[in-house]
Amino acid sequence: MALHISEAELERIVRSVVSELTGGGQSNIAAGRVVNGQCRTVDEAVDAAAAAFKALSAHTLEDRKRFIEAIRANGLRNKALLAKMAHEETHLGRYEHKIAKDETACNLTPGVEILEPKAFTGDHGLTVHEWAPFGVVAAITPVTNPSSVILNNAICMMAAGNATVLNAHPSAKVCSMKTVELINQAVVAAGGPDNVMTGVLEPSIETGTALMTHRKVDMVVATGGVAVVRAALRSGKRVVAAGPGNPPVVVDETADIPEAAKCVFEGASFDNNILCVGEKAVVCTEAAMRPFMEEMRKLPTYELSPGELAALMKNIVLTDGAKPRMNGQFVGRNASVLLESIGIRGREDVYLLTCRVAQDHQLLYLEQMMPVLPITTAPNVNAAIDLAVEIEQGFGHSAMMHSRDLAALSRMAKLIKTTLFVKNGSSLAGLGVGGEGYTAFTIGTATGEGMTTARTFVRERRCALVDYFRIV
Ligand code: NAD
Repeated sequence: MALHISEAELERIVRSVVSELTGGGQSNIAAGRVVNGQCRTVDEAVDAAAAAFKALSAHTLEDRKRFIEAIRANGLRNKALLAKMAHEETHLGRYEHKIAKDETACNLTPGVEILEPKAFTGDHGLTVHEWAPFGVVAAITPVTNPSSVILNNAICMMAAGNATVLNAHPSAKVCSMKTVELINQAVVAAGGPDNVMTGVLEPSIETGTALMTHRKVDMVVATGGVAVVRAALRSGKRVVAAGPGNPPVVVDETADIPEAAKCVFEGASFDNNILCVGEKAVVCTEAAMRPFMEEMRKLPTYELSPGELAALMKNIVLTDGAKPRMNGQFVGRNASVLLESIGIRGREDVYLLTCRVAQDHQLLYLEQMMPVLPITTAPNVNAAIDLAVEIEQGFGHSAMMHSRDLAALSRMAKLIKTTLFVKNGSSLAGLGVGGEGYTAFTIGTATGEGMTTARTFVRERRCALVDYFRIV
């Protein structure tokens, strides 16, 4: 990976940023005013964002375009720093993949161009529909993609004309607030107001709840698991809920099997499978299973024996609560760490563990967020699709299928009801990487917005001029 700065220099920058943001350095807050969005309290963060929203309202669409370009450029300039910080702070995923996520967020998030106005003309004049901001938006962000969700949300909100208050995941607070700082610095340098995005330096569930229910917050966007989606829906505000998923993949015997294996490997191993869209379970038809497994073995994978899988399950799944859940100690860790936990050492060359399992295996139904991929069989393609629908569990998030059978592809598209459905590609194609279309790191599942853009965060307004302004 080519970096513009040396690893040692990067290390030094990370240390100094962490020290500054955690109080070891000169604090912006000590001066008594909010700078670069860094706040002590929810009230302070909301007030600063409300002031920024007012200031932003005086700017033109051309200004917003310039501010967005500045956010993109600063994000790209600092992608290695943000990736390093996120990796060191959260211990999740892979550094080089975090760089790729920030790049995607900066390059592929649409700006103001997505807000096309509508016009109606007739005997009674001209009516236009335009897109107006809501005001102050509360954004709750995850630990899994901290800087990329924040950059993606920031570009959407700026295009929409909103200001944003962030409640970052507590385990990603430093890299998240550094991203907020870079966003504000970019906007200010481009001639815009400071604090277009603010956040509390010590976020918690309590600050998140206070933010979502704050009287000056106009809209809530929550990206995360089931608990935060429920909390957001209880806020009484307009909510965009980007919840969890459990994306299954169907592979049938008509598929280009080597290509299917490559795609599944790419999606399931990317950032150690912490992306919400990543392939979490595979259902192969009986005829596709053997060639598919042969192709998977040619890739940097390790096929667990039934005994090794049983040993690993004891480490990665916790069964002491009401429901089985993944052990946070192993979430997002490299495949080699999972292997070490069962006594297999020195396999840093492995990016993904695979295992053949029965149709009712627990791992198929848990959003594991680890590079361990359960693969099961079904007698034929229709049975494989039906099982994939069960594995997806109605989250409405993402699914993939590899097949050349058009009827089967159409059947799965109809039955699976996911927001993203990728045919003959990896899950990343659904994010616009290797597939067409723009990207989003906040995918509105529970509330149905799909791939969020500035269009998600605006109100429609109509202005009618009666009897004039027709030109024919
Ligand atoms: P998480 O639910 O643990 O945390 C997400 C955010 O919600 C954090 O800021 C956290 O502090 C906050 N939070 C959690 N419970 C809360 C509560 N009861 N009240 C208020 N705030 C609360 O999720 P995570 O581990 O950070 O992220 C991974 C999850 O997010 C996965 O389930 C993944 O599928 C999902 N995700 C979804 C999308 C999408 O676009 N749909 C994108 C990224 C991640």
